[in-house]
Amino acid sequence: MGSGPRPLIAARVMPGCRPRRILTRGLAPAYIRLAMRGRLFLETFGCQMNVLDSQLVAGRLRACGFEIVDDPDSADVILYNTCSVRDHAEQKVWSRLGELQDARKRRPHLVIGVIGCMAERQGTAMFHKYPHVDLLCGPAELDKLPAMVCNALATRLADPAAALRQTALAGPRAGRNAAVPWGDSDALETLDLSRSVVRGDDAARAYVRVTRGCNKFCSYCIVPYTRGPEVHRPPANIIAEVRKLADGGALEITLLGQTVNHYFWKEPDGRAVRFADLLYMIHEAVPSVRRLRFVTSYPRDFGEDVLAVMRDCPRICRYLHLPAQSGSDRMLRLMRRGYTAAQYVELIDRAREMLPDVSIASDFIAGFPGETEDDHRLSMDLIRRCRFKNSFIFKYSPRPGTAAAREYPDDVPVEVKRRRNNELLAVQQEVALELNRAMVGQTVEVMVEGPSPVGARRSAADAADDAPAAAAAPWRPGKEICQLSGRTRGDQIVCFDGDPSLAGRIVNVAIIEVSPLALRGRLVGGDGV
Ligand code: SF4
Repeated sequence: MGSGPRPLIAARVMPGCRPRRILTRGLAPAYIRLAMRGRLFLETFGCQMNVLDSQLVAGRLRACGFEIVDDPDSADVILYNTCSVRDHAEQKVWSRLGELQDARKRRPHLVIGVIGCMAERQGTAMFHKYPHVDLLCGPAELDKLPAMVCNALATRLADPAAALRQTALAGPRAGRNAAVPWGDSDALETLDLSRSVVRGDDAARAYVRVTRGCNKFCSYCIVPYTRGPEVHRPPANIIAEVRKLADGGALEITLLGQTVNHYFWKEPDGRAVRFADLLYMIHEAVPSVRRLRFVTSYPRDFGEDVLAVMRDCPRICRYLHLPAQSGSDRMLRLMRRGYTAAQYVELIDRAREMLPDVSIASDFIAGFPGETEDDHRLSMDLIRRCRFKNSFIFKYSPRPGTAAAREYPDDVPVEVKRRRNNELLAVQQEVALELNRAMVGQTVEVMVEGPSPVGARRSAADAADDAPAAAAAPWRPGKEICQLSGRTRGDQIVCFDGDPSLAGRIVNVAIIEVSPLALRGRLVGGDGV
């Protein structure tokens, strides 16, 4: 963290004033008003659920008067929304916090907070390791965060030496099974309900939560301990949120849940709403949503009714993310996944039978405790057999507090985990390349996300010189273009040259070449949505 411009708000601290060192009562209103014009930097690590949590939290704080900034050096409040699923993700946050020690010395009013799974998992031990951390808020307590942030900044502005140490953590409640099954009796529901919709490039794609938490307790996974038990949101609230987002310009909605297909709601009249019902209801209620997706599905009990709704509703994308984790029954048992490899394959076959064009992604863990070369080979075989469009492959790292960390020694050497990880990746890339090659010559519908992270900007004139594809595209001569990327309905990444203003639109792209990771094509039009 380098030295940056002095925050606006720091100059407004009233010298000589010594209010009480408590958070709300006794604070001069002037400090509270100043705090509510603070600048917030929020960095997100981890999954889509965290991305959504960050959007909701940022929206609430924006509504309170905070300005969201991209530069941590200009912020009055720095929050990290963290992930504990792998050790690597936590190490990144420790390193960010280490860098902030100097920032706090330079800007004594700065408020530093850790939110999300790592805050919940580490708890107040974080204060001992890094005393400059001021607040911790677990993922099941985020409705309390706006008040905590306002109070913390007001207190710091009044007294830069104030020791804050605020916490909102579920603690042992987080690990309890289905303690609060219904979203309408859950305080966190207010965070989702308060969602603000801002029109702009990002408005075209949005996440909507349908279920919070997880009850599955896979032996390696920290999520049930950090996010708490499954809580299902009322269908009416979900549909109202989707409608609000669609009215704000959303064309693609992704429904989120840790095990999204296990969604279940009971209406007051006793009528049950299962995930297939919910999908159908959203599809029918908000036809302006052109793409309806959902992640992440749990392979056990994945109902044929969901596949049938996907088959019958044209705006539901034929994409499934079904983490297998291993191809070995012995490993699946130790992981407590609740299915065998044969049952998993049966599900994939059934999905392909009902939806011949379905695109399927998976997850694998390399080097789970006790994994032998034979177990590893079974995972490679499963990738070949199921022909995933991609797999998220990770080396096992024990998460303290989980059953696997308690009960199984982490006995696969690091170099073996690395080799197996690479071998799984290599097999997956072979499969993906074969699938992608079959798409050359096809025209696919792409939701444009924006400039590709690897795409070099260049002028339209340059592009016309070296790429006939670019010359055929409909942008005006001389206008700057760049490499854009987007996703097909089956979630394949597509890169093509185009005008950056296409971000957030749905276009058609003819595929001309492929790699294992992406398709490359030329723009052939779109509906200009
Ligand atoms: S289903 Fe298993 S892996 Fe997925 S969040 Fe729940 S416990 Fe973790």
